[in-house]
Amino acid sequence: MKRAPAETDFLVIGAGVAGLRAAIELSSAGRVTVLAKREVTESNTQWAQGGIAAALSDEDEIGLHLQDTLNAGDGLCNAEAVKVLVGEGPERIEELIQWGTEFDRNGTKLAFGREGAHSRSRILHAHGDSTGREIVRALYAKAKTSPSISVCEFEFSTQLQIAGGRVYGASLIDEAGETNQIAASAVLLASGGLGQLYRSTTNPLVATGDGVAMAFRAGAEISDMEFIQFHPTALYLKNAPRFLLSEALRGEGAYLRNSEMLRFMPKYHEMAELAPRDVVARAIVHELEISKMQDPVVYLDLTHLNARHLQERFPRIYSTCLLYNIDITTDLIPIRPAAHYSMGGVRTGLDGRTTLPGLYAAGEAAATGVHGANRLASNSLLEGLVFGARAGKAMRNELQQSNRLPAKTSAPVSARNEADAEKAIREIQDLMWQDAGIVRSGAGLKRTMERIKEIGPALINPQSRRGWEAQNLQLAAALVTRAAFARQESRGAHYRIDFPAHDDVHFCKHSVIRGESVRFE
Ligand SMILES: Cc1cc2nc3c(=O)[nH]c(=O)nc-3n(C[C@H](O)[C@H](O)[C@H](O)COP(=O)(O)OP(=O)(O)OC[C@H]3O[C@@H](n4cnc5c(N)ncnc54)[C@H](O)[C@@H]3O)c2cc1C
Repeated sequence: MKRAPAETDFLVIGAGVAGLRAAIELSSAGRVTVLAKREVTESNTQWAQGGIAAALSDEDEIGLHLQDTLNAGDGLCNAEAVKVLVGEGPERIEELIQWGTEFDRNGTKLAFGREGAHSRSRILHAHGDSTGREIVRALYAKAKTSPSISVCEFEFSTQLQIAGGRVYGASLIDEAGETNQIAASAVLLASGGLGQLYRSTTNPLVATGDGVAMAFRAGAEISDMEFIQFHPTALYLKNAPRFLLSEALRGEGAYLRNSEMLRFMPKYHEMAELAPRDVVARAIVHELEISKMQDPVVYLDLTHLNARHLQERFPRIYSTCLLYNIDITTDLIPIRPAAHYSMGGVRTGLDGRTTLPGLYAAGEAAATGVHGANRLASNSLLEGLVFGARAGKAMRNELQQSNRLPAKTSAPVSARNEADAEKAIREIQDLMWQDAGIVRSGAGLKRTMERIKEIGPALINPQSRRGWEAQNLQLAAALVTRAAFARQESRGAHYRIDFPAHDDVHFCKHSVIRGESVRFE
């Protein structure tokens, strides 16, 4: 296993789509060290199924992609960021294709799928439903051709190092629990999301909000944390992971049925099953509440669709469901919503710059405002590509400006009991699911905020990786609940039963947290 060096020019924390794309951009400017908490193949990117959106088809236009993204964002998108995303997206994808990414084709032409809230078929996919895996494969292969990029697996970054108000490196803990430090001219947080904050999530175990927690502890501004997207359709079976059943299934014509086998989405939204994700997730919660089943589920129904086409288009979903004795071509699939994506994160400008000199963020860890209050399906892989490349480009200029400081040895930390960390994580996940999930209220959020605060002191000075994850999740939970409590309205993925309407006068703004303050701007 390659250990991280004591010094590098550029440190990239994270090896998903954003981190790998940034590293490629940086490779001609100096030494690039990319860290992954576990294997490179363990990230949200790796699990992305449905695809990546871009206005590349003959029937599509960049302006339509822009409008769909703004509509889904429910009034809160940063329009400049969206223009960058949809405008630069096609070029970044052409580049991916040149680097060997094998998107599915009809004959020689790229094949475009359809997903919820998109007005055109514009979703590129690879090997049916393994788009993220194919993108990581191609980006990693490209990165490996550069001698200046080192990818170090199982290196867990715990803290950012700061001197004179500037970030100049990070502390690490490896798989064996040994600590280390790495100094760099500039640091990119590309550490992904925080789905593990919730009991039910589609995210892998690495998604514990480490980037947001590190940046907050270092004093950076954090934005839009109240906006967590819940995916409406995750497999729900006892003893099975909450495996995602891609939106593209509904794009192909799948129906949602309640416990009485009735198709219910048409009564909630004119776009029925293809309504925005928050609408579908809340409709499911409502159907679950009124269901007479003991452990209620709703069902995804594909049985009316062409069986051979489903097997070819969704080979991973087909084979995974078969492991649990569900043949998606003939059986109904039991589902419930699960935490899926964080629209908020470390606040950045359009080139990934955070509010701390020397620190950049891109991908799911960042908040550019590109998704507003609700992400449009298949826009996040694109975000990682576009803003990862932009952050890499901007960081290249930091090399000359930096006064590089020597790496320090880490301070001793007190022992932390693994079982206690595990117990705290379970409690945080339950609290967040219960009171800071799909449907929220002021009273529930207040209760959760208070309990999360009480858990805090017990998690200070972690020694193990799991101990750090517990502390990071506690901090991320505090940020989500503080922002959700302060936003006294409903918008996009944030739904308050005590404030069910928009309040544009006070809240058509981004929440920004720094230290103890929450403000809207
Ligand atoms: C099941 C699933 C399906 C999805 N489907 C789609 C889809 O079809 N289309 C779409 O656009 N989006 C989809 N998404 C969302 C999308 O995959 C992610 O938002 C996107 O891939 C995030 O990329 P990223 O590079 O920011 O982070 P990630 O891909 O999550 O990568 C994070 C990296 O950071 C590393 N890391 C984290 N913490 C640390 C630490 N402390 N120290 C060192 N390294 C660390 C991890 O090891 C990992 O390498 C899906 C997500 C999931 C979970």
